[in-house]
Amino acid sequence: MEIILQDSSVKSISKDIDFAYHKENLVYNNETIEILKPIQIKGKVNVLQGVAELKLSVSTRLRHVCSRCLEPFEVDLDLMVDEKVSKDEQEDESVITLEEGDALDIRDVVMNNIYLALPLKVLCKEDCKGLCQDCGKNLNEGQCNCTHEEVDPRLSALKDMFKEV
Ligand SMILES: [Zn+2]
Ligand SMILES: [Zn+2]
Repeated sequence: MEIILQDSSVKSISKDIDFAYHKENLVYNNETIEILKPIQIKGKVNVLQGVAELKLSVSTRLRHVCSRCLEPFEVDLDLMVDEKVSKDEQEDESVITLEEGDALDIRDVVMNNIYLALPLKVLCKEDCKGLCQDCGKNLNEGQCNCTHEEVDPRLSALKDMFKEV
């Protein structure tokens, strides 16, 4: 969905936005995130003197892979977009300038906001136990049979001393 940002001499435009579009995958931090539902966009775009003000609500559903246990899991993504876009640079620094041309593609703004909303480290749950470093078992499903030797506290103090050298 594109909106042409004309010269500032043109009178203002106000548009209700309500559409959905499908996008297959996102690649973020070398991870592929599947988009499970069409991205639903609702809201309003007002263009005044060449500056478009977007107020949109965006919702979809994503399938992430937990960065600790590597299991896929699904989450709903809901976010609000509140941005101003112009084809010419504006004094107001909060206004984004279009890279080229005068057509604003709402999907680009939405995608940027989705990327910004993604967490840096994706966990299936906050206390995900991850995988055993020795046998690779998913420790959320129970303990494995590996024995993990406890390090003698006196030894670890020695180790710390060596580190300082
Ligand atoms: Zn996990
Ligand atoms: Zn193990």
